[in-house]
This record gives sequence, structure tokens and C-alpha cells, in this order.
Amino acid sequence: MLKIENLHKSFGKHEVLKGVDLSVETGNVIVILGPSGSGKTTLLRCINFLEKADSGRLSFKELDLDIPRASSNEISDIRKRTAFVFQNYNLFRNKTALENVTEGLIVARRVKKSLASEIARRALDKVGLSGKYDFYPHQLSGGQQQRVGIARAIAVNPDVILFDEPTSALDPELIGEVLAVMKKLAEDGTTMVVVTHEMTFAREVGTHIIFMDDGTIVEEGTPDDIFVHPKEERTKQFLRRIT
Ligand code: ATP
Repeated sequence: MLKIENLHKSFGKHEVLKGVDLSVETGNVIVILGPSGSGKTTLLRCINFLEKADSGRLSFKELDLDIPRASSNEISDIRKRTAFVFQNYNLFRNKTALENVTEGLIVARRVKKSLASEIARRALDKVGLSGKYDFYPHQLSGGQQQRVGIARAIAVNPDVILFDEPTSALDPELIGEVLAVMKKLAEDGTTMVVVTHEMTFAREVGTHIIFMDDGTIVEEGTPDDIFVHPKEERTKQFLRRIT
């Protein structure tokens, strides 16, 4: 469904992505692992043009783009098909949970307010926030705020949801509730690409694991391939360090 080929991205002289390929099929949960600075977040941001890669191709269903030459219409099309869940939630502080979810529907997708509210309520129900529609971010825990972030992503009915370290800003006791929501989405068949350091989630929920280091994909495969039978020394070292 989504394919990235030979993606390169530099910030100044620092080449952060050195020719990355990625393929995502409908219903996949792709988990991207790797040490800090290996380029995971940049890869994710390049998929929906939060960063523009220097070179590479992106195909998404019938679209096939040479990334640097993508038109603004093509970029907006990709953005509509993908949703991004940020590490720091990125909620509007002065809007309620419900308004945070309806905003994108009303402004970017031109959905009527009453329908947007109905969709947003359903999305908030799905992440276990039925009682919190009218709460502002400061009245919610970090885990609840991130669940609003996930509801906002679900509400636009994207083809794929991109999660950028969705639990890394949370206190340990709040991580589980967010991972549980993500696990449920995966079980429902949501296509997801997840950058995370949560190894239990990666093993249990990932359908395909990618291990990145220094701007390249070092090794990829099933959770069993990566966690039980890693082949590359760099993967083994990484797993020894974090488990
Ligand atoms: P982490 O696990 O720590 O989030 P990561 O694997 O997601 O790391 P990236 O955030 O993609 O890594 O960053 C890769 C490298 O690119 C880092 O050295 C980072 O400092 C650099 N980098 C990322 N964004 C920018 C930017 N906007 N400008 C300059 N350098 C950047």
C-alpha cells in the first residue's frame, strides 16, 4: 500500500537517512527500533512530509512520487491519508478534548460541525475517554492527553497512522494505558508504523520489525527474526543494551 524507496535526508552536512526502503501493507504494524539519533523520527516525518526528503520515491496506492518533485496537491493528498501521533501530543491547550479532535475534521477536511462532533465522540469513546469530552488538556493526565492525540488520528480515518515514540514523554505508570489502546487498534486491523522503545509492545504487537542504526536499516523481519534470531552484530548489541 505504501512504499518508500532509497530515501535520503540530510540536515546541513549531517546525512541522517542514507538510502532507506520501507514497505507497508494494509493491516501491518511496522515497528521501528534503533538507538537515539539513528534517524527513526526523521524517517517517519518524511513519510508524511513533515520533513521533505532530499531524494527518494514514495508510492501510496495509485500515487507514485519522486519526493523532491512532489506538488503541493500530492503532498496534501499524502497528508490526508496519513495521521501522525506525536511524542508530546501536540494538543491545542485552549481547546477541549472534543474540540481537539473535531478541529482537523472541520478545518482540513471540511466536515460539518455536527458530523465532526459525532465522529470525534466515537473516536474518544474508542480510546476510553467517553467521560472527558469537555476536559481541557491541563485537566487530563499525560496518558489521557496522548489518547486524545490517538483519537484525533483515528477520527480522520487515515490509511495509516504514524506513531512517533508515543509513550516516551509519559510517566511509567501511564504508558500501559496508551499501549493498550494501540494494541486494540492493531487488533482491529489498523495499519500502523510505530517508532518506539517499548520492546514488549514491539514483540507482541509488531507484524514487522525494522532495526535502524546510523541512517540505514540494519536488519528487518518478524519479531521472532529480530528478537530471537538476530543476525547482525549491531542488532544483537542493541538488544543486549535495552533488554
Ligand atoms: P531518538 O530515538 O533520540 O528520537 P531518532 O532515531 O528518532 O532518535 P532522529 O530524531 O531522526 O533520530 O534524528 C536523527 C539525527 O538527525 C539526530 O542527530 C538529530 O540531531 C538530527 N536532526 C533531526 N532533526 C533535525 C533538524 N530539524 N535539524 C537538524 N538536525 C536534525
